[in-house]
Amino acid sequence: MDDIITRTALIAACQRLNALGINQGNAGNISLRHGNAMLISPSGIPYEQLRPELVAQMSLEPNQPAITIPDDPTGIWTSPWTGPCKPSSEWRFHRDILRARPEINAIVHTHAIFATSLAIARRPIEACHYMIACFGGHDVRCAPYATFGTQALSDYALAALDGRTACLLANHGMIALGETLERALWRAVELETISKQYIHALMLGQPHILSRAEIKDALAQFANYGHAAPVAKTATSR
Ligand SMILES: [Zn+2]
Repeated sequence: MDDIITRTALIAACQRLNALGINQGNAGNISLRHGNAMLISPSGIPYEQLRPELVAQMSLEPNQPAITIPDDPTGIWTSPWTGPCKPSSEWRFHRDILRARPEINAIVHTHAIFATSLAIARRPIEACHYMIACFGGHDVRCAPYATFGTQALSDYALAALDGRTACLLANHGMIALGETLERALWRAVELETISKQYIHALMLGQPHILSRAEIKDALAQFANYGHAAPVAKTATSR
């Protein structure tokens, strides 16, 4: 895809997060694989002010030289980028996921209300609905807490995403992955939907949780249907 088209698609997707009601302020961010690099929404720029040239580009190649920038007392930005604006402070987990998961080409991160509520309770999403299978298995894990923008948070997120296409981040938010940008957005919406359903079911009492066999059947059905094809290449049974 042409560079300007990809950047424009990323901006449209950021603005769509707000239209879908699954983002809070400027907290969300989106990245896209772009050859051997990633394009990522910049830090601190309201979505309505985004322009293609403001989207940051970072290499996905290993062993990038570390940098220090004088106006960053947090030490968050230690890897070079191209563009006039700093990449999202969460560039580490975007970069690490794209490096580790070659089948994934787009990543959505937001602080969506219902998914984040479960993350605050540090409660993984169980198989309360068959749509859990669109995230690759019988649950959506909640990664342990670490400060935003840190390598520890990236490491926890990557582990929680093993064999999955979404995870919660404790006391923070959610991550949804896609083979395409459209699929990442679709999963982000589905994750917020199942989070809402699960919370409401928990309010009624003890939800009935589907068995591993029932989820296996749902996974097979998705594959047959050719819609969700949810099984990630690194799928495990844990
Ligand atoms: Zn965040």
